[in-house]
Amino acid sequence: MPHVLVLNASYEPLGVVSMRRALILVLSHKAVCLEDSGITLHSATSAVPAPSVVRLTRFVRVPYRGPVPLTRRALFARDHGRCVYCGAAATSVDHVIPRSRGGQHRWDNVVAACRRCNHTKADRHLTELGWRMKHPPAAPSGLAWRVIGTGIKDPRWRPYLEPYGGLDQLHQQLSGFEHHDHTDTGGVLPGPHGRSRPIRRGEQPEPLSA
Ligand SMILES: [Zn+2]
Repeated sequence: MPHVLVLNASYEPLGVVSMRRALILVLSHKAVCLEDSGITLHSATSAVPAPSVVRLTRFVRVPYRGPVPLTRRALFARDHGRCVYCGAAATSVDHVIPRSRGGQHRWDNVVAACRRCNHTKADRHLTELGWRMKHPPAAPSGLAWRVIGTGIKDPRWRPYLEPYGGLDQLHQQLSGFEHHDHTDTGGVLPGPHGRSRPIRRGEQPEPLSA
């Protein structure tokens, strides 16, 4: 059963709920449906179009929820599914300052990496290897990350999430959604245009003969 994006009355994204929960919100008039999922749910007496996006009818004040949770899925989304050192498909999580040398498991010290770079780097500092990154890693920001971090995605959500940050990553995740043959490759998110996508931060250009 697909999930449903819930927006505040102000249209800010609040999160993702189950279809059942969303239907209860709509049927109890606590939310209105903004987008249909294209699925129709049948009961004994009626047929109800299942929502894909709902908006609460009353504004809910949401307390500050702290930083975006650091998960493998969210990290790979932040780094576009690519190794920040060489641009290859990322398969592992690297601690920039190795944990064995006091590095912490925090957004500003973790990056997506390919197995080869991770293995080569081992427990060394970047300066010891002569490696560098174009940008230091940082925690993602923007309300859309509450949804991007869940990894649950639906192309119908795009216009509702785009104004709230994480646009590149969102586009990438949604591209993955639209091309099922590329999804679920161990959390690696494909580029939106295959090999021809632009070089992103921290990447080296791929040789043309690759
Ligand atoms: Zn690499």
